[in-house]
Amino acid sequence: NNIPIGSPVRTQAIVNRYFVKAKKNLGQNFLIDHDAIMGIVEAAQVKPGDQVIEIGPGIGSLTEQLLLAGAKVFAYEVDDSLPEILHNELPQTIDGEDLDSRFKLMLKDVLKADFDHDLAGFFDLNKGVKVVANLPYYITTPIIFGLAESNLNFESLTLMMQKEVAERLVASPGNKAFGPLSIAVQTEMDVKIALEVKNTSFMPSPKVDSSVVVLTPLENKPDIPNRKHFNWVVKMCFSQRRKTLNNNLKNVIPDKDEREKLISSLGVDPRVRPEDLTISQFIQIAKAIPMKQ
Ligand code: SAM
Repeated sequence: NNIPIGSPVRTQAIVNRYFVKAKKNLGQNFLIDHDAIMGIVEAAQVKPGDQVIEIGPGIGSLTEQLLLAGAKVFAYEVDDSLPEILHNELPQTIDGEDLDSRFKLMLKDVLKADFDHDLAGFFDLNKGVKVVANLPYYITTPIIFGLAESNLNFESLTLMMQKEVAERLVASPGNKAFGPLSIAVQTEMDVKIALEVKNTSFMPSPKVDSSVVVLTPLENKPDIPNRKHFNWVVKMCFSQRRKTLNNNLKNVIPDKDEREKLISSLGVDPRVRPEDLTISQFIQIAKAIPMKQ
């Protein structure tokens, strides 16, 4: 079958053959735009021999192109009606190898993944891994945090998500999308938007447009002695976005003089708002605030 799964004709044929009903509660929006799919594969720079984890293969539109680009693919999926479809519809041989040696599906919630355990025997864990996915949007941020905090030695994460979340991930100080999510991610990873994808590229088409984001681990991570404390301080600084930093810090540093001293040590206007601070200024604030018991 030479027509890609990620095309309107082939997707419709699969939907008819297996009586597929896209499950909204699982964030099922299948890609039917070949250019967008190839855009994801290119953004992830998939090369022959790459080990790719895919989250939510659906009916296989992206999986198929990852395999054809030469990757070995390990996929997490929660919908138990999909393994049969994937095994029938994905190419049965790829570069002379059979599908089973190139593709493994695990029916498991990716948020419960234990990567070392799950991947053992299929991937060579001494080599890097790439994550490539058209994410289920209802759990975009838990997935990103789960991956960042996992034991996975990943080279890159190439993730399709709602455009609005992508904008928060890449936002820099001064931008109104800049906030706790931007800071948590940018202190660990380099973040770039690779392409934008219209809602009409999916079936069924979601309400919002999407973006593909590429995240790569930073070589030099900023020195953050205690992540939990740092994330808490950032959250407190943004507790009321429209208020000044001084106002937001009242609960954390009740003493007015102490608060003003800290703000002036940052070298910023006393009426500064949280979204105008740089990441190093947040690190400075976290260092000045005692840890919660
Ligand atoms: N990759 C396919 C494509 O691009 O057409 C489908 C993408 S669809 C946006 C998201 C997929 O994630 C669905 O197949 C859905 O069943 C799956 N999914 C939802 N929640 C999941 C979870 N917790 N763990 C793993 N997969 C999940």
